[in-house]
Amino acid sequence: MNPFSIYLHIPFCVHRCAYCDFNTYAGMESLIPNYVTALQREIELAAESAGSKLPVHTIFFGGGTPSLLDAEQVGNILRTISSCYELYPDTEITLEANPGTLSFQQLCELCESGVNRISMGMQSSHSDELKLLERMHGLDDVVQSAAWARSAGFDNLSLDLIFGIPYQTIEMWAMTLDAALAIGPDHFSMYALTLEHGTPMQKRVELRFLPEPDPDLAADMYELASERMESNGYGQYEISNWGKRQSNGEIKWSRHNLQYWRSLPYLGFGAGAHGCAGGFRTANVLSPERYISRLEDGKPLPFPRTQATAELLQVTREDEIGEMMITGLRLVGEGVSSGAFRERFGIDLNDRFQPEIERLINWELLEWSGDRLRLTRRGRLLGNRVFMEFL
Ligand code: SF4
Repeated sequence: MNPFSIYLHIPFCVHRCAYCDFNTYAGMESLIPNYVTALQREIELAAESAGSKLPVHTIFFGGGTPSLLDAEQVGNILRTISSCYELYPDTEITLEANPGTLSFQQLCELCESGVNRISMGMQSSHSDELKLLERMHGLDDVVQSAAWARSAGFDNLSLDLIFGIPYQTIEMWAMTLDAALAIGPDHFSMYALTLEHGTPMQKRVELRFLPEPDPDLAADMYELASERMESNGYGQYEISNWGKRQSNGEIKWSRHNLQYWRSLPYLGFGAGAHGCAGGFRTANVLSPERYISRLEDGKPLPFPRTQATAELLQVTREDEIGEMMITGLRLVGEGVSSGAFRERFGIDLNDRFQPEIERLINWELLEWSGDRLRLTRRGRLLGNRVFMEFL
């Protein structure tokens, strides 16, 4: 059986950033103790309905701001998981953290509780860009938190960066990259700023208080990031992710994120969390209050449902095919293996998608590398255009 991954959503933030459309809430921190109890209940309910102890090899506390939980709460959640699932001895346990919310003491306690990977939202090294994004930290906080994380014992540290910020020039982006590289993390995730509908930033752009994002400039920034990463010993393994090259040549990737991109099963717990397991996709209720009240009267339901499930969708074979193409192509090194495709679906990749593949190869967005279909360098910039062809 393929091991599972567990995603835990912590939907609380001190302040909502201007570009954020995640399921997260500011000013609701008083709910955290009851939320943690509900989360533990949901974890237990899913385990009861699975019938046997499912193997688990990655756990990810995402948000929101999971670093708003204290180490005791994180430890309690991890103890609940290890009591009802079969944890691999080397389980990757990541916690997303906002630099401004961390202390050295907290990092030491998190490390002791079992967390072994910290993913920090740095986003930019410039105070004016961070202000525009309405982030609650500065570069000093990131540098300090990263140093504390290392001293506390974390040997796996990831930084998130954003490019394409209004008024950002390529020179400013280069300075952010240099500042981030100087911190020396093990892993980078980088995303172009997207204007999500209904966010304060999208409204400001609509009212022309801020300039429209420039896709050509964002493409140049992505190219620059790719070059800087490669020349500083980081290998790209996914459209938006780079890991440090180890002495054995392997890339230090995020095992948790690979689970999604390899279309392997994961359970999502918490308000608004998504899961995919047992042939179903699940999505939980969004509101933390409703999530807590639903879990008060928890009885096991057929796996993978829990009392918090708001949507349940059976995954069809066509869904699986489309998903394997999209998530597989995101892995820029691996791509989609035609052998694995045939083994899984009993048909040839070329027969199933011949016109699409031919067209995308002609447009120089896809290429064959042995039996693997992969994005070209140009294709990495136009990933969404490629993925649409396979839906
Ligand atoms: S810290 Fe992250 S989750 Fe919270 S509001 Fe900002 S971008 Fe959204």
